[in-house]
Amino acid sequence: MLYDNSTFALAQTHFEGQALMPDTSMLNDPHQPHDHSECVSGALESAEHLCERAGVRFTALRKRVLELVWASHKPLGAYDILDTLARADGRRAAPPTVYRALDFLLEQGLVHRIASLNAFIGCPSPEHSHQGQFLICKQCHIAIELDRDAIRRAIADSADAAGFQIESETVEITGVCAQCQAAA
Ligand SMILES: [Zn+2]
Ligand SMILES: [Zn+2]
Ligand SMILES: [Zn+2]
Repeated sequence: MLYDNSTFALAQTHFEGQALMPDTSMLNDPHQPHDHSECVSGALESAEHLCERAGVRFTALRKRVLELVWASHKPLGAYDILDTLARADGRRAAPPTVYRALDFLLEQGLVHRIASLNAFIGCPSPEHSHQGQFLICKQCHIAIELDRDAIRRAIADSADAAGFQIESETVEITGVCAQCQAAA
């Protein structure tokens, strides 16, 4: 009992400590040891809330597609999603249906599209609308979302200075992640 209480207190302190951290990139580092099932359940839960608040339907297929995108921290292509739906669920979803589900998830900010890979990744903080920036490891294919205001501001200011009107922005940086460097 005592043990349970103390671990609970510890977990809370840890959570509060994280919430206070101004640099969100560390929170989103998928290399930090973590229980990934919590990433998945957390993502599904906030998706449920966000859709409810937005008054849009979080259908079974939309939910399943989001769950598949969250299967790992590696961007997933639409065809991988179709494959898994056919294999694991025995559900032959028509490609347009899955593309529509992905469009929906993009619109709601629940996933981001990684243009250079033509793939999708779950957003760890969909509650505020943003265009994330990504570090993509060319070895393990993990994508780490940065979501930094400083980068966004620098892009906006530079575009302003050039009198350029931004319609979309894609910041994707490829390289080798810390873990793959350590393993080399
Ligand atoms: Zn995870
Ligand atoms: Zn994001
Ligand atoms: Zn890597």
